Amino acid sequence: MRVLLLYPLFPKSFWSFEKALELVDRKAMLPPLGLVTVAALLPQEWEFRLVDRNVGDLTEADWEWAELAVMSAMIVQKEDFLHLIQEAKRHKVPIGVGGPYATALPHEAADADFQILDEGEITLPMFVAAVQRGHTQGVFRSDGVKPDVTGTPIPRFDLLNFDSYDSMSVQFSRGCPFQCEFCDIIVLYGRKPRTKTPQQLLAELECLYELGWRRSIFMVDDNFIGNKRNGKLMLRELKSWMASHGYPFRFNTEASIDLAQDQEMMDLMVECNFNAVFLGIETPDEASLTLTQKFQNTRDSLAESVDRIIRSGLRVNAGFIIGFDGEKKGAGERIVRFVEQTTVPLAMFSMLQALPDTALWHRLKKEGRMREQGANINQTTLMNFVPTRPLQDIANEFVAAFWELYDPERYLDRTYQHFLKLGAPKCPGSRVRKLNWVNMRALLILCWRQGVVRKTRVKFWLYLAGILRHNPTVWEHYLGLCALNEHFLEYRQVVQTEIEAQLSEYLATETGLQILPSLEEEKVGEAIAS
Ligand code: SF4
Repeated sequence: MRVLLLYPLFPKSFWSFEKALELVDRKAMLPPLGLVTVAALLPQEWEFRLVDRNVGDLTEADWEWAELAVMSAMIVQKEDFLHLIQEAKRHKVPIGVGGPYATALPHEAADADFQILDEGEITLPMFVAAVQRGHTQGVFRSDGVKPDVTGTPIPRFDLLNFDSYDSMSVQFSRGCPFQCEFCDIIVLYGRKPRTKTPQQLLAELECLYELGWRRSIFMVDDNFIGNKRNGKLMLRELKSWMASHGYPFRFNTEASIDLAQDQEMMDLMVECNFNAVFLGIETPDEASLTLTQKFQNTRDSLAESVDRIIRSGLRVNAGFIIGFDGEKKGAGERIVRFVEQTTVPLAMFSMLQALPDTALWHRLKKEGRMREQGANINQTTLMNFVPTRPLQDIANEFVAAFWELYDPERYLDRTYQHFLKLGAPKCPGSRVRKLNWVNMRALLILCWRQGVVRKTRVKFWLYLAGILRHNPTVWEHYLGLCALNEHFLEYRQVVQTEIEAQLSEYLATETGLQILPSLEEEKVGEAIAS
């Protein structure tokens, strides 16, 4: 069987970083880890051809070659995902679809011949059996059963063109023990984190090493410290593996903020050459955190926790959200102040969206507050439900705060302060690597753009001199973050233009919708609890 593995296009987003990727001749930040895992779960006598539309073209020759297509996507890839289903039909190639989007909204993928939903370890064997019996249609679900990931094979990394990607990705665990009301991770993967074995993860890293990969690796776990015991067991093994292989990789991941309370975990991560962690902070407003059931963010001072993580040697990226129920005016400005106080360079900021099947989605449906059934987690879409304060106030605060956060000078200010706080890298693998020609060229372009052309020129050179003087071993890492200024300069304009256009349309067409008067917090709390 000749199988075409398809990964749809992403729209421009906070994380797409086109400008920075161009500088280093790459096309996408991350590879489609889900699809290469699917390839490993399908019969290995089948032939595979992977087309990631974000890095290469899908040609007529690909369709002619294929006997079957398999596609996986997230909700943000919706537009191209639906287009590719129609393309498969036009080329008379049967197509099976899966991944978070099809699993959350299967009716939107109803034109596909096969729906391989939930986690592939359970549903892919059902799909294979159906194909081998000659079936031409089918919907496969795991009915709430979550697979043990200790049997998941090594992803078929060999199908990827490494030169196209800035980073590789691996997964150690799935699921998260917390219960944030808006989160779809716990709906898709459950609240009992399931981990691979340390040996299993090391075998994946060994495979990447053998294939020649030597750059960053993103551990895509929903919450890397969801199972701290197993996480530490793995890190201890990883530490020896990294030392014996000469520290070939740098890691980054996502974790809950209680990481700050576990010094041993942070030290192990740093010793394994983890250099950044993404934290879901969401908002400094404690009432909103409580309402959204993000209790783990209310136990200690958020600012102190962020500070402790940075000073332990991990650069912090963080997510922020505006639009929680009961939120008071000025939430955008409070987020900007918090980000600047904590010096977080990459603050991913969005308006709250109710993702399908989440606790938030069900509550809002019950309250009759959903504006539309679909959902998008991009920064350029209005909220998909009726909030408790006027949507236009939230949208205006969001645009203003996003604009301030990514003012090029203010971005440089906090990036500089962050790298001073971070201190010198403690892992021997963090040493500065020899620059190749591509990196040299990127460095020259960066210095020209930010040190000569842009109005940031004075700060750019002052801060670079400061880094070389006070924390010289991080200069390459620091400039990598400075390069993202190019992306945000353009992206904040996209956010402003698109949100303002949608807001005008909303005000013109939906003013008939009732904007709920500010609900008293107790009432919202009761609604969440029910
Ligand atoms: S901590 Fe993160 S992954 Fe876990 S439930 Fe909350 S939002 Fe989801």
